[in-house]
Amino acid sequence: MLPLPVLEKAAAEMTDANGSGQSVMEMSHRSADFMPIIEQAEALFRELMGIPGNYRVLFLQGGASLQFAMIPLNLASVETGNKAPVTLVDTGVWAKKAADEASKYAEVIIAASSKDKAYTYIPSAPPPASGSAYYHITWNNTIVGTRWPAIPDTGGVPLVADISSSILSEAIDVSRFGILYAGAQKNLGPAGTTVVIIREDLAGRAPSWVPAMLRYDIHCKEASLYNTPPCYGIYIIGLVLQWLKDSGGVDAIARVNRKKAALLYEYLDSSKSFFSPVEKQSRSLMNIPFIPRETDPAKKTAVEKRFVKEAAAAGLVNLAGHRLVGGMRASIYNAMPVEGVQALLRFMEAFEKSL
Ligand SMILES: *Cc1c(COP(=O)(O)O)cnc(C)c1O
Repeated sequence: MLPLPVLEKAAAEMTDANGSGQSVMEMSHRSADFMPIIEQAEALFRELMGIPGNYRVLFLQGGASLQFAMIPLNLASVETGNKAPVTLVDTGVWAKKAADEASKYAEVIIAASSKDKAYTYIPSAPPPASGSAYYHITWNNTIVGTRWPAIPDTGGVPLVADISSSILSEAIDVSRFGILYAGAQKNLGPAGTTVVIIREDLAGRAPSWVPAMLRYDIHCKEASLYNTPPCYGIYIIGLVLQWLKDSGGVDAIARVNRKKAALLYEYLDSSKSFFSPVEKQSRSLMNIPFIPRETDPAKKTAVEKRFVKEAAAAGLVNLAGHRLVGGMRASIYNAMPVEGVQALLRFMEAFEKSL
């Protein structure tokens, strides 16, 4: 969900943004009307995340999924077509997709995996394979509901992290990373914008055959305006960031997020009908899957179906687990208030009694 004040401001400005007489959708991306919008969005990112001066903030397209390719193309591919080694940790579907895509342009070394326990924990991170161009992790695993408990030490190898489903949910030390990237649609705004935070020295490494649109150096040089960026998405992201700043910033939202997650996990850990499959030290603040304790497959499926249907009727939507893992999942991103989690818990208590 997006914060209601953001949607209301966007609605009020739909036909006339900042007294321009235009919708943001109608603005030229190089106009004096749009420039302050993209500059303000970047400034808010820098302020809220404490982004150091030697990092660039890019607004790109193609989702996190395109970054799975852009990262190896820019950091690991070489002029001759040879492949440089890269180190990845396999913590689930998105990590696997990042590895599969990287294997087309790099020599992928999976340093650790939690596949042995259905990805319900974050493995301890081994050192990078020798000569690695980068070390990739998926910080918050949206589908299984795990999150890295600490930033791994990768020596001098640039650490690259997919933070699509956790960006701005809690403080993160940007200076420990080479690249951070996130599709906007989980915690920032509408689908269609991808935010990439990249250490400047990593932007100039792509060989000449890499297409212009996939080159960090070009997007840095052109300040995300090499071609038409997703203007309306950037505008909404700016409104979301302003809302976050007005709500007290990242530490304030992190306190709310920890409270929301603790309420749900405490409930699940003592529930007779549901449980969290995720090991305690690896639990996500943003995505909380829960599974019926019922072990008979047919009965379990029936409970899941009834839960999702009755929850939706009670106004609690999007609670079906990812199609790959089943069960239920509460995605409680920044804009979800504590009251939303409390409403879910009231529903779960009543539902359990009816079982
Ligand atoms: C949703 C998600 C993706 C895929 O994002 P797209 O923007 O749809 O490509 C990748 N990684 C993580 C962690 C996600 O949650």
